[in-house]
Amino acid sequence: MLSCREIPNIANDYIDREGSTRTRVMVSFHLAQCKNCRTYVRGLKITRSLVSESIRQPVADELLQTLGLKNPDRDGSFKEPNE
Ligand SMILES: [Zn+2]
Repeated sequence: MLSCREIPNIANDYIDREGSTRTRVMVSFHLAQCKNCRTYVRGLKITRSLVSESIRQPVADELLQTLGLKNPDRDGSFKEPNE
C-alpha cells in the first residue's frame, strides 16, 4: 500500500501513464481512498496542462534527430536490432 509521501514521486508517471501497471493500479487505489492525494494529483494535472499550453511550439527537426525520433538517413525499412 502506498503512503501519501510516495504519491508526489510517482504522480507524474501516473498522469503520463508511464511506469508499471502495478504502480498505476496502486496509485489509483490510493487516490480512491485519499481525498488529499486526489486533490494533489488534480492540481498537478492542471498545472502541467497550463505549462504545456504555454510552451507548445513546433519541435525543431534537430531536436527530433537528437532524440532518435527522426533519422534523415533512414530508408524506411525496419532493421533488426542485432543485424
Ligand atoms: Zn494520500
